[in-house]
Amino acid sequence: MAESKRDYYEVLGIPKNADDSAIKKAYRVLAKKYHPDANPGDAEAEKKFKEASEAYSVLSDSEKRRQYDQFGHAAFDGGAGGGGGFGGFGGFGGFDGADMGDIFGDIFGDIFGGGRSRSSSRYNGPMRGANVRTSVRITFEEAIFGCEKEIDINYKEECASCHGTGAKPGTSPETCSKCNGKGKVMYTQQSMFGTVQNVQTCPDCGGTGKVIREKCPDCRGTGYITRRRKLKVTIPAGIDDGQSIRMAGSGEPGTSGGERGDLLVEAVVSKHPVFVRRETSIYSTVSISFAVAALGGPIRIKTVDGEVEYEVKAGTQTDTKVRLKGKGVPSLRNKAIRGDHFVTLVVQVPERMNEEQKEALRRYDDLMNGRTPKEESGHKKKGLFK
Ligand SMILES: [Zn+2]
Ligand SMILES: [Zn+2]
Repeated sequence: MAESKRDYYEVLGIPKNADDSAIKKAYRVLAKKYHPDANPGDAEAEKKFKEASEAYSVLSDSEKRRQYDQFGHAAFDGGAGGGGGFGGFGGFGGFDGADMGDIFGDIFGDIFGGGRSRSSSRYNGPMRGANVRTSVRITFEEAIFGCEKEIDINYKEECASCHGTGAKPGTSPETCSKCNGKGKVMYTQQSMFGTVQNVQTCPDCGGTGKVIREKCPDCRGTGYITRRRKLKVTIPAGIDDGQSIRMAGSGEPGTSGGERGDLLVEAVVSKHPVFVRRETSIYSTVSISFAVAALGGPIRIKTVDGEVEYEVKAGTQTDTKVRLKGKGVPSLRNKAIRGDHFVTLVVQVPERMNEEQKEALRRYDDLMNGRTPKEESGHKKKGLFK
C-alpha cells in the first residue's frame, strides 16, 4: 500500500529542498483547484484534493517532514523503521480529523473568505432549522408558582400551494443555466501565484442551483409562509427573570427534510412592590411599632403564600432579620424544595402623636431615667420633646 502512494513532493510539484513558503504556496494552488466546493460531485478532484492535503499536512510539519524524508511513507504506516510516535496519524479517509481541521483553518480562511463554516453552508443535505427567540411577561407570583401562558408567535412553515419549492403551482424550479445547478461559478483571476481559479456563489440562483421562472403567488417564491400562531407555554415553578423555556420543534423549519429548530421563550418577570427575589430567597421589609419591638407580640407578615403570623420577641432591635423557612422560591429542579423568606424588621418611630400619647411617652422616659414623672414633666416638655 505504501508503494502505491505518490511521493509527497511529487504530489505538490515541488523539489525536495523546497522551503515552507514554497510548500504552502504549492498547496494553495492545488487546494483551490481541487477543493470539493469548486468541484461538486467530482470524485477525481476530491481524490486529488485529499492527496494534496495529506502531502501538505506532512511536509508543512517539520518533524513529520523529517520522518518522511528519512523513511518515506513507511514513516506513517506503523511498520518497521516507522520511528514511532505517529500512531494516530493514518486517518486521511475523511476531512474531519483534527489535523485536517487545523489545515483548513489555516489555509482556507483566506482562500474562501469564511473558512470551514462557509464550506459547510454549501452542504445540501438535511439541515436543522434555526432556533427562534421570543419572550413572555409574567408576574412575580407566576414565576414562583409556575403558570400556563398563551403566546403569539410567528410560525414559519412550508407553503402548502407550492410545497416549499417557491414555484407557481403547475410549474417547477428549473436548473440554473449559469451554474448548471451547482450553485457555484468559477472564474479565473491573475494573482501573485499566477492564474488561479476562484469560486463564487452563482449570482443567478444565489447558490441554490435552481431558478424559479414563475413565483408561487402565495409565498412570493420563498417556499414558506409565516402566520401568527397561538402557543401554550408551561412556565415551571421557580423560573427566574431572564431564563428561557425551550419548546422543541417550534422554531424555524429545517431544509431538505431537516428537523425544525426550537423556540426559546424567555421569562420577563415583573417587579413586585413588596418582595425582592435572589435565586430561591425572597426578601422583604416589615415595619413594627416601638411598643411591639419593646414588648414583643404577634404581627402579620405578608409572604407569597399569603399572610403568616409571627411572634416578635420582646426587645427586638431595628434591622433584625427573621427567617421564614420554606416561604421562598421553589427549586426549578424540584418544586417541593423551597427557599426561605427573609424579613427585616424595622422599628418605626412615630412621626405624629397627640398630646395624650406624648404625655405617655414623657412619663415612660421619666420612668426609664428614674425621675418622678410629675415634677420633671414641665421641664422635659420644653426640652427634648418639643
Ligand atoms: Zn408557495
Ligand atoms: Zn446558478
